Amino acid sequence: MTIEDFKYDHPDRDVAAFKRAVANKLIYAVGKDPATASQDDWLHAAAWAVRDQLVERWMTTTRAQYAQKLKRVYYLSMEFLIGRTFTNALLALELQDTVREALADFGVDIEALTEREPDAALGNGGLGRLAACFLDSMATLGVPGLGYGIRYEYGMFRQRIVDGQQVETPDYWLTRGNPWEFQRPEVNYRVRFGGHVQRREGKGAPYGAGRWVETHDVLAVAYDTIIPGFGTQATNTLRLWSARATEEIDLKAFNRGNYMEAVESKNHSENVSRVLYPDDSTPSGRELRLHQEYFFVSASVQDLLHRYLRNHQGFDELPSQVSIHLNDTHPVLAVPELMRLLIDEHGLPWDTAWALTQKVFSYTNHTLMHEALETWPVEMFGRVLPRHLQIIFDMNSRFLATVTQKHGHDVELLRRLSLIDENGERRVRMAYVAVLASHSINGVSELHSELMKQSIFADFAKLFPERFNNKTNGVTPRRWLAQANPPLAKLLDHRIGRGWRRDLKQLEVLRPMTHQPAFVGAFRHAKRENKLRLANWVDQHLGIPLDTDALFDVQVKRMHEYKRQLLNVLHVITRYHRILDTPEAGHVPRVVVFAGKAASAYHMAKLVIRLINDVAAVINSDERVGKLLKVVFLPNYSVSLAEVIIPAADLSEQISTAGTEASGTGNMKFAINGALTIGTLDGANVEMREAVGADNFFIFGNTTREVADIRASGYQPRELYEGNAELQRVLDSIRDGLFSHGEPDRYQAIFDALVNWGDHYLLLADYASYLEAQEKVDALYRDPDAWARMAILNVAGMGGFSSDRTIAQYAHEIWHTRPVALG
Ligand SMILES: *Cc1c(COP(=O)(O)O)cnc(C)c1O
Repeated sequence: MTIEDFKYDHPDRDVAAFKRAVANKLIYAVGKDPATASQDDWLHAAAWAVRDQLVERWMTTTRAQYAQKLKRVYYLSMEFLIGRTFTNALLALELQDTVREALADFGVDIEALTEREPDAALGNGGLGRLAACFLDSMATLGVPGLGYGIRYEYGMFRQRIVDGQQVETPDYWLTRGNPWEFQRPEVNYRVRFGGHVQRREGKGAPYGAGRWVETHDVLAVAYDTIIPGFGTQATNTLRLWSARATEEIDLKAFNRGNYMEAVESKNHSENVSRVLYPDDSTPSGRELRLHQEYFFVSASVQDLLHRYLRNHQGFDELPSQVSIHLNDTHPVLAVPELMRLLIDEHGLPWDTAWALTQKVFSYTNHTLMHEALETWPVEMFGRVLPRHLQIIFDMNSRFLATVTQKHGHDVELLRRLSLIDENGERRVRMAYVAVLASHSINGVSELHSELMKQSIFADFAKLFPERFNNKTNGVTPRRWLAQANPPLAKLLDHRIGRGWRRDLKQLEVLRPMTHQPAFVGAFRHAKRENKLRLANWVDQHLGIPLDTDALFDVQVKRMHEYKRQLLNVLHVITRYHRILDTPEAGHVPRVVVFAGKAASAYHMAKLVIRLINDVAAVINSDERVGKLLKVVFLPNYSVSLAEVIIPAADLSEQISTAGTEASGTGNMKFAINGALTIGTLDGANVEMREAVGADNFFIFGNTTREVADIRASGYQPRELYEGNAELQRVLDSIRDGLFSHGEPDRYQAIFDALVNWGDHYLLLADYASYLEAQEKVDALYRDPDAWARMAILNVAGMGGFSSDRTIAQYAHEIWHTRPVALG
């Protein structure tokens, strides 16, 4: 039989065909009578019918990638914060109207259905969401890519607010099954842990070869999801690994008659892919995390080598066929894993394996914060991955030998460059392994990439200056404009055509339209629709009525001290006091919106959540304030909630201490949706301000240089507290229990952190400048058309912040891949 002889039903795309497809899925795949089918049954049936439409594209793309012998990019990431898939797939297929109509004929409302779909929340925040935007852009640009990650059973925890405080509950997103994935039980790899290494020395054994024996093994099983491109037939694949016990049960324990013990060891193996670590900045000290990291990179590297070897003899062509990209250091174990496989399993000499490794790997750094840089105790590392520890030691001694050859025996330099941190408990520096093994190391904004070379990688940047580069982040306009903001998308389609979805630079033509009153009016109207949608959400979920004429001032992102939600709170309380002092002063009405999760062990971040909720309770119930100020904390920030919040924002708060936010991507989503930014000169804010024009951006605060100077010259926050009466009143009201009746010292720790314990993130140093900028915001908002014109100029200037631009740069400058050509 040839492929031409193989017959199947190609799914048609009209309403009648789609109705039939959904009906067939409901009956034959879900197995439900339409008379009793639940919303979830319909969702599954519809999702499968939509997925069918993607499968042919998927197979065509894969076939073409092989036929054209294209180099593939393997994007390794611990996190993919995908969100919902249904609407996104409809958008890619341009099937929204068809499906809406087909479902309506069954009496099923598509909006209600899409709200039932759980988010795939396999990530914490920006890093995971970036990976999801990148998959979308790679598919859209036809870059032959494959995302590799972990199929966590429990994604990001669900956040509830109980008595003003965060309570975490598990997110078992697979309860009702996942209609988008294809389980591939036949694609499975053995991943080994523990045991010990027998060195192979002498004749015939390559340098550093070893035999890794008596290991505990876990199976990694593949689950594939189709990633559709937009405006193209091209698709890509997200392959996530799930852990299975190698033997269904431990036979020895079983034979001893201990059935429970036997089953327990099976459960233990499968824990590896159970849960996402709910912490996006500090490496968990837990051994399980190390297991997770190795688990998914080992399966991925075995898988990609297997794919390569299906079509190649030997490894000479590996660098022209394979690129492995490390999304932060979490997947860095792929480096010693590739070395191990090439040397121990395929018998390559060390030097050959090392040259291949360096050509294949590239690495993106996402943080400069010391506490977020991953290191592992040598003792633990050696216990879990003894062979990999040897390989890292060998890499290190060879590297340090070449440094000595070049620069003499500079002990201090060697100590600083070593892959092993010898200060105190010996630890493996994962970021250094990544830098040493990669031909490209990039930061995620111009500022961050520069600081990266000056700080954490200063010595490496001198040794290998050509490896360091910048790739400023971006976001996908499909999800973050077309999908999240139907009113604005419709207006854009009407006025500038539909091309912006694939070419965001086309937004530039909006610039002169700020002079057309009709367009400005339509733009304001779209914003109002989005504000109404958010107001309805808040009314339904929190029972707080919002005035859509008020300025919607929004800060949504992970809760972290460096992001300075607390500085925002200081402004809110200042405003509260001012309203009470001068009720008739013509204050601009504001709704201040917060959302974000705190890592479960991060006490200070949780205390700030509690303060926000306490402040909201006091202000919202104070009749003297009325409509002039409302504060809301929306629980359970997620991708799908972001899609509701961001288009409704007038003002975007991007107020991290300069030098701490690597890029930010929330900042970009807001500006693309027509919010103005109040922000510091941090991360990508700097480039956004240049792109939209400094006059259209509310900048404030100390610069990175000034922050360093303030810290170096002995910062005294108490002097600022004592020298600014308004600030003092705000801080005293927090300390004295204005927002915590009955428990005056609830927020003593917050007061102390700012006034007595050094205010590490310089909130007090930026307070006055922040207030000044907020006053400018108020002044502009008093002129709604002037505000709208500035917002339009922000949208117009944001064309460069599409993740398509970012991915095009990665593809040309780092990966050297060609796009797939589809007939
Ligand atoms: C974009 C996004 C983030 C990142 O926001 P930042 O403001 O850049 O920190 C985090 N979480 C979700 C759900 C997002 O969509």
